[in-house]
Amino acid sequence: MNKKITYKDYHEKDPERYPFFRYHPDPISNGVFVESDFPRVCQCCGKQETLICEGPFYTDEDLEFICPGCIADGSAAEKFDMEYCEIPGKERVPDEEKTEELLHHSPGYYSWNGGTWLSCCGDYCIYEGQIFYEELMERGLLEEFRNSPAWTESAYESIEETLHNRWIQLHVFRCPHCGKHRFYLDEFYD
Ligand SMILES: [Zn+2]
Ligand SMILES: [Zn+2]
Repeated sequence: MNKKITYKDYHEKDPERYPFFRYHPDPISNGVFVESDFPRVCQCCGKQETLICEGPFYTDEDLEFICPGCIADGSAAEKFDMEYCEIPGKERVPDEEKTEELLHHSPGYYSWNGGTWLSCCGDYCIYEGQIFYEELMERGLLEEFRNSPAWTESAYESIEETLHNRWIQLHVFRCPHCGKHRFYLDEFYD
């Protein structure tokens, strides 16, 4: 069986070209970094690259391809006045360096309402990906989900109503310090 290639494989082969992103360690599995069949030109540095980020990019510029290096060193964020995610006021941590690293040096993730990032223990959480009901059970996270209020605009009557609602995406984060999981419910609005 072929093992699925992760971003870690790229990073281990060439750490300079594929820097480690501590807030989002595997942007490949989450569809944020895409393996292209032929080289694409990074719109920031102009170099050719087959592993590229196609977004999300919060900027007025019309961007298609950015290489991992230009995300990590902050050059793309600076050049295109761009952020990669959104931090709600109450999730923002006081350490400006961490906020800078997350907003301008870390790949975001896809969601309906704009890549909301969660925090815990005075730091930003690690984004693990979108999660479905079965996986929540398999990974033994159901209790944790039940007991931790998920970050959302609305409240739902029951956990079942929430998890089987096809207008909701559930994103899971993990705290790099206490290891607890936090959940973001992303809702689809017409
Ligand atoms: Zn580049
Ligand atoms: Zn924590």
